[in-house]
Amino acid sequence: MKKIIIANWKMQLSFKDSLILAKELKRKIKETKNEVVVCPGFLALASVANILKGSVLLSGAQNCALKNRGALTGETSPATLSELGVEYVIIGHSERRLILKEDADLINAKIKSALAAKLIPIVCVGETLNERELGQTKKVLLAQVKSALKDINIKNSSGFIIAYEPLWAIGTGEPIIPLEAETIHIFLKAEVAKILGKKIRIAYGGSVNGNNAAQFLKEKNIDGLLIGGASLNVNEFTSIVKL
Ligand code: PEP
Repeated sequence: MKKIIIANWKMQLSFKDSLILAKELKRKIKETKNEVVVCPGFLALASVANILKGSVLLSGAQNCALKNRGALTGETSPATLSELGVEYVIIGHSERRLILKEDADLINAKIKSALAAKLIPIVCVGETLNERELGQTKKVLLAQVKSALKDINIKNSSGFIIAYEPLWAIGTGEPIIPLEAETIHIFLKAEVAKILGKKIRIAYGGSVNGNNAAQFLKEKNIDGLLIGGASLNVNEFTSIVKL
């Protein structure tokens, strides 16, 4: 199965710079053996999706609403994302869990609405530094996965991805050691398969860059990468995608 490389641009770029980066990536990446997903901010999403149409680069969103239609001021419908050609959606990123107070029930509802709209969810899980130091990593990840995947059925879904993102590694320049990530991925894969009845891909995220990406990708159970900072640099991201 292909490895997946996901670019999370967060809220780092202006509208204009998002279009410039999308055009540059399209120009530089004509082929790749990986599945590559670009997740811009919402205001640039339709334009970026349009630019990427017909290229090897796929479109993703950084978030979505907990239902597909209704009175939900300020939210973004997964069905409308799908209408724009978006195929993936990041759900439960730690920045949304921590800063925007997204809880387990909301994340679970968002996954359901994304699946109903035929989007592929990229569900983020990860432990804090304190939880890691207390030896609670597996316990924390299991609780997050169980609550996120409650009553989820992926029989008719074209894909489902978990992103393991230790919070202490996000944006810090200090990634986990690839072999340790591999061990956690083996654990997560087995636990998620018990819940969903199916093996799914688990990607790693947290301070991945052009220098360390290959070491992560060579691990058998690291099925891809979720990249923040390094995805904003066209040359660095291109070099990762071409690995
Ligand atoms: C992220 O945004 O999920 C992330 C992993 O960021 P960074 O690559 O900058 O650590």
